[in-house]
Amino acid sequence: MDKEKKKNVVETEMPDSEAAADAAAEKESSGAPKSPQELVGHIRDVFEKMGLDVLATPIESMNPGFRPAAAAQEAENEAEKPGGPLQVVKEFSFKPKEIRDYLDRFVISQNEAKKVLATAICDHYNHVRRCLENPELARREFSKHNVIMLGPTGVGKTYLMRCIAKLIGVPFVKADATKFSETGYVGYDVEDIVRDLVKAADGDIELAKYGIVYLDEIDKIAGRGSEGGGKDVSGRGVQINLLKLMEDTDVKLIGQTDMLGQMQAMMALQTSGKAPPGLISTKYILFIVSGAFDRMREIVKRRLGNAQIGFHAVDENQAADSDAAVLKQVQTQDFVKFGFEPEFIGRLPVRVVLDELDVADLEQILQVAENGILQQYEENFAGYDIELQCKAEALHEVALRAVQEKTGARGLMTILERLFRDFKFELPGTGVKLLELNEALVKQPEVELQRLLQLNEELTAKLKLQEVYEFAKRFEQLHELKINFSEEAALWLQNESGKQNKTVRGFCEERFKDIHHGLLLLASHSGKKEFDFDLNAVSAPSEIIAAWIRDSLKQKEA
Ligand code: ADP
Repeated sequence: MDKEKKKNVVETEMPDSEAAADAAAEKESSGAPKSPQELVGHIRDVFEKMGLDVLATPIESMNPGFRPAAAAQEAENEAEKPGGPLQVVKEFSFKPKEIRDYLDRFVISQNEAKKVLATAICDHYNHVRRCLENPELARREFSKHNVIMLGPTGVGKTYLMRCIAKLIGVPFVKADATKFSETGYVGYDVEDIVRDLVKAADGDIELAKYGIVYLDEIDKIAGRGSEGGGKDVSGRGVQINLLKLMEDTDVKLIGQTDMLGQMQAMMALQTSGKAPPGLISTKYILFIVSGAFDRMREIVKRRLGNAQIGFHAVDENQAADSDAAVLKQVQTQDFVKFGFEPEFIGRLPVRVVLDELDVADLEQILQVAENGILQQYEENFAGYDIELQCKAEALHEVALRAVQEKTGARGLMTILERLFRDFKFELPGTGVKLLELNEALVKQPEVELQRLLQLNEELTAKLKLQEVYEFAKRFEQLHELKINFSEEAALWLQNESGKQNKTVRGFCEERFKDIHHGLLLLASHSGKKEFDFDLNAVSAPSEIIAAWIRDSLKQKEA
């Protein structure tokens, strides 16, 4: 299948909460403007003194020639052009099974999730496409197929959605629901995520209207619920705010607190006479939320237990089944017990539970998945011209260890990182060109590393010698002074750097860091720009150069 639309694929993540806290602190600080934000605030004060409220002044009154309807029409025409942003949506023709097949290449296991997501995505984008074709349809009531995913960490929840967004060619943003605050004063306003979608679409507002928003850790914004527990921070408020977004609302493209954005928009208006479009509708934005929902199993189990006593007896085996099997029986009432507003959970009609990944899945991720975790390591080593080859038994061992981490596929990264860390540090610059991930390496990485280094000692020594001459070449380019190292001197530098556990480059740069001053002085006396460095000169460069300078002064006097 070659429908993958790479061009428009964009992804972003929200900045972390620390940055948000900093920004909030900055907002509160007083005194002379220091940062761009403060400067803009200062400019805004000046404008206000002039009787112009940056936030409230309608764009038309700042520029009487501006016609907002015409600008909107212009943007729409642009989007309608062949190949324009809407083309991606207008040409949407995937079938659920085609999406599933595409996902199979990258995501291992999770067959149920692939099926449910592929269908929800097709329903959503088919509807959007048909609304674009038929405005009458767009006016009819329609409930979006927003999705809620339940499942432990590292099993592919985000990855599935990233892959889907990439395939379709729509922008994708991910944020943690815990970053949102009810007021948006400290932390992020829920509307910021929509504005981030525009950024992810490279400022293409039309495309952003059809993007995918992914909110992780949604279980953390549950209220206390009737079951108790959970953080109540301002969970309910955030849920209500999200509710509006998930339905159909218009979000201001420039946030209330984004003074810089406000100023930029105003300046653009002043210079070009064109106002940037002010709003973005969330009508066709698809929302996916996810979380681990650890407490949920208990809630479902309890309900199932009660039901067994009552009329609707449930298969006993089901209730005693694995975590995922229990979660798969989750119902709206369980979400409400968990602490979600019924209206909020009602806007998430598509529910899917992801399975834990077992050893065989993890092995498959290493061996079969395209662009998988192992490929990243192959890339890392290829950056130093080292080929990584992996043996099946070793990958099995890695998968076994990763499962014990209990972080899904992330466990693979933890294990591989631990295994390869020293190799990545020690091998570059040595003669090693092939690294085999075998059982010996998994069992005793340090021993294997030493064995490899010793095996390639001769080649490594040659490369290090070459680095001495490369240093001389760089020195010449930098100072226009040529250093000729004698063979003996070059060997000494190579050995000495090894003894001090330094790279040749680092060792030479430190050792010869000031010599250009002396050499330049010599060059000014004699016009000589080439200097021979023998063993004496490299073992005591400052002393030798000082002696050279004394000699040249004597000669000058004579
Ligand atoms: P989460 O379920 O917490 O959202 P992610 O989807 O972010 O986890 O997974 C983290 C990484 O692990 C992904 O980027 C991907 O490389 C790998 N991964 C996770 N699950 C799978 C899977 N089922 N198949 C292939 N790779 C996976």
